[in-house]
Amino acid sequence: MSKPLVVGNWKMNSSLREARTLAKEISETLDDPKGIDIVLCPPYPYLFTVKNEIEGSSIRLGAQNLYWEERGAFTGEVSVTMVAEICQYVIVGHSERRQHFSETDEIVNRKIAVAINFGLFPILCVGENLTQRENGEASTVVSRQIQAGLAGIESPEGLAIAYEPIWAIGTGVPATPEIVSEVMAGSITNTLKGIYGKDRTDEIPLLYGGSVTAENVEAFVTLDCVSGALVGGASLRSNEFSDIVLITSRVKTSD
Ligand code: PEP
Repeated sequence: MSKPLVVGNWKMNSSLREARTLAKEISETLDDPKGIDIVLCPPYPYLFTVKNEIEGSSIRLGAQNLYWEERGAFTGEVSVTMVAEICQYVIVGHSERRQHFSETDEIVNRKIAVAINFGLFPILCVGENLTQRENGEASTVVSRQIQAGLAGIESPEGLAIAYEPIWAIGTGVPATPEIVSEVMAGSITNTLKGIYGKDRTDEIPLLYGGSVTAENVEAFVTLDCVSGALVGGASLRSNEFSDIVLITSRVKTSD
């Protein structure tokens, strides 16, 4: 089985001072949690500050995006090489990027490929919107996003998939464990098995994301198909994020 993983996506939030405090508090509380990978994904300008705060802890650093070119005339972009110089992880294909920045499956695929080439651990986000769910298309949408996002990626080693139904992100209305189980143990696992086979699929961390809190996380991480969580809003509260990590660690490491 894959190692549990909890990722905090700060999105476009916090000031520099708040980012420093948040990282400091989280790294002090999560001194040495056993058997779990923890990743903080602050906004680009705060990466270095957060890196300094978490130094010496087992917490890892992630970016929220990258650009596939290494350098050049791409004003406003941050290249894969720049990200790889200071981060270990990168979120790719978050629904907010797909929605607001027109990221297609093809773009997502290019980003996944370069991330892997430059030694980053990409977290590929997939998930249906409300209309697609109501039309019974959730499984098809998620399966298509995985197939397209991972096209040409020969080895799934060093990547994770986050199932984030768009209707559950930032709404305070998480998916039910039944829905999560249906999509993650069903469509996502089956699609991955079709590409990589059972054994290699078992090694891929599958995260749930969408209004995860310290109160509801246990219901998700108790599911066998869920290795951890991608946390947005609650990752901006140090105590709550730390609780989410500790609950996940307890559930996933107790046999
Ligand atoms: C996210 O940003 O990926 C996310 C899941 O946000 P939230 O936890 O706020 O729903």
